[in-house]
Amino acid sequence: MGELASMFAPDRVAVIGASEQQGSVGRAITENLQADFDGDVVPVNPNADRVLGIDCVDDITAVAEPVDVAVVVVPASIAIEMVEGCGEAGIENVVVITAGFSEAGSEGAARERRLKEVAAEYDLDLVGPNSLGVMSTGVGMNATFGPENAQPGNISFMSQSGAFVTAVLDWANDRDVGFKDVVSLGNKAVLDERDFIDEWGSDPDTDVILGYLEGIDDGEGFIRTAREVTQETPILLVKSGRTEAGASAAASHTGTMAGSEEAYEAGLEQAGVVRVETVQELFDFAGILSGQPLPEDESVAIVSNAGGPGVMTTDAVGDSGLELASFTEETLTTLGDALPGGANIYNPVDVIGDADVERFERAIDAALADPNVGAAIVLACPTATLGFDELAETVVDLQDEHRTPVAVSLMGGDSTRDAQALLSEVGIPTYFDPARAVRSLDVLSQYREIREREYEEPKRFDVDRERAREILLEAKHSDTNRLGVEAMGLLEAYGIPIPDGEIVDSPGDARAAAERILDETDAADEDSDGEAASGEVVMKIVSPDILHKSDIGGVEVGVPLSEVEDTYEDLVTRARNYQSDAKILGVQVQETLDLDAATETIVGMNRDPQFGPLLLFGLGGIFVEVLEDTTVRVAPVSDPEARAMIDDIDSAPLLRGARGREPVDEDGIVETIQRLSQLVTDFPAILELDINPLVATPDGVSAVDVRLTIDQEEL
Ligand code: ADP
Ligand code: MG
Repeated sequence: MGELASMFAPDRVAVIGASEQQGSVGRAITENLQADFDGDVVPVNPNADRVLGIDCVDDITAVAEPVDVAVVVVPASIAIEMVEGCGEAGIENVVVITAGFSEAGSEGAARERRLKEVAAEYDLDLVGPNSLGVMSTGVGMNATFGPENAQPGNISFMSQSGAFVTAVLDWANDRDVGFKDVVSLGNKAVLDERDFIDEWGSDPDTDVILGYLEGIDDGEGFIRTAREVTQETPILLVKSGRTEAGASAAASHTGTMAGSEEAYEAGLEQAGVVRVETVQELFDFAGILSGQPLPEDESVAIVSNAGGPGVMTTDAVGDSGLELASFTEETLTTLGDALPGGANIYNPVDVIGDADVERFERAIDAALADPNVGAAIVLACPTATLGFDELAETVVDLQDEHRTPVAVSLMGGDSTRDAQALLSEVGIPTYFDPARAVRSLDVLSQYREIREREYEEPKRFDVDRERAREILLEAKHSDTNRLGVEAMGLLEAYGIPIPDGEIVDSPGDARAAAERILDETDAADEDSDGEAASGEVVMKIVSPDILHKSDIGGVEVGVPLSEVEDTYEDLVTRARNYQSDAKILGVQVQETLDLDAATETIVGMNRDPQFGPLLLFGLGGIFVEVLEDTTVRVAPVSDPEARAMIDDIDSAPLLRGARGREPVDEDGIVETIQRLSQLVTDFPAILELDINPLVATPDGVSAVDVRLTIDQEEL
């Protein structure tokens, strides 16, 4: 058991602010606790002798016997004092129901800061404030002021919304869904989702962890904890509140394309958490994860007595991560012998409408025995020849025999009730809608994949961190927040290949730079394949006021030596025409890359307030926002994670040699993503960064352009 074990299995719970007053929270909690709690309830209230028949204590520090959990329901003005009393009394677990903290303006926020200090001082495990309370069915504890108590079960549930707890309990009680522990997280001043995931991950009585979260405070830490826990216990989360923080202010492509929604999606995926959209799904998935074994693969067999619904189910399989199993010869022979002429022995198996239980049984048995079948859906519509109860008994026996995960869709009303109860008793889920059976089995299969994951540590490359620091400090000294190609050295310091280039501030220097670059690229070309170099350079305006250089004619590709000086003047004139007071740092003269066999990609970073640095990879160049073919991961990423980013994008075949093209240097892209991952993890001052394009050719990659925004305060 984890560090919070005593919170969920207390012997004695004190209610500070217990009261008999009708309609008060102090009364509701005391009553709820009295109802089923195996241990003792200690009311604390200096103005009462007894509360609801129990002797009252004046002050928490005066309680004679040790208290494991103190529930605080006093007004906000004295709540902190009471919590301090808990600390004095040596109580480890405190649940603060009281509201009026960070959810209530600046005064409340100050109060919450004070609460945190007190909790830290006494090392309290504190839930809330502004919480509905906690429950643990293991000891019958209902320390909430909600109207419903949870039934016992193997699901532990946390929620950032107290109202959602009461709604879920109401819903679950109607359906006989039980819980081990329930926590209303409140404002998460001290304990947050991570602590409970950690606790429940080591709780033998919790088989599935469910959560409703509006935000995650420490994304990186969350990923670390969740990854470990999901190796044993599945985590399902409903994440609400699709915030769009930051997106509008972004100055980079990555900033606009990798917002907080993308961060959550990537973060939860990387953490091995299954993200869920609805309450129905939350419990569908929890039910199957706690009731059925994991499949060996994503193949699924469908056995039904109805053609139409069978097709519906097949379509749903097509939309999911599952696939239809293809039966072995042996299975097909067995099915051929067992089923009448009009039946379909291929998957989806149709035993046809006049099937009785025996015929159904032979078909289900054959499917479950097949080594090519990972999971099965039994789908039955009411007919005169079929008894649902008998069918249910048969499915229970067959599932027990074969240990293959099964989901059942009984497409009927009242006539299915007893069969449903029979099946659910042994953990076989039933649904009216077969699409729900498919989605549930899909999640079961997803969780199998999560369990099989092997997480690798991110690589640390040998880089010139000091040089990168100096470049950033220089920007700070010149009071610059936005940097362009003048910061190419940052990439170079982290070992990301860049083309030969130089920033100059006069036409004459531009010519000298072009001569040197052409000389050196010539020599290099002769060294390699003897091919003649183009004899041309690329020139770009360098100005912090110009975000997209080519938009204002600030990039000239294919400039011959003879035109370098004129082009310099042209670029400066165009920049002045665009913005007369634009700060112009000069012009970059750059080696020309052969783009014929190249693909322009983008590698970028945007910092999310919760998850930290997000890395983006996709198809780049000037069409990046038109195509929007990108993918996102939370940094730092390991080699396999960086590689998977390439798999993710739709244009991956373009990089891998579609239509007779030569495949580009994929390893070069993967390494660039990892090196950028290291750079942005090392320097929190980098707020957003685009390498666009990262030109990828068969021979390597090259960062042709860079743009970043920094936070000077962080340097
Ligand atoms: P911006 O994004 O500010 O418009 P870039 O430096 O990215 O400026 O250049 C725009 C486009 O010009 C690139 O996407 C690429 O197609 C082309 N380009 C830029 N630099 C080079 C180069 N050194 N060699 C070949 N093409 C280049
Ligand atoms: Mg660019």
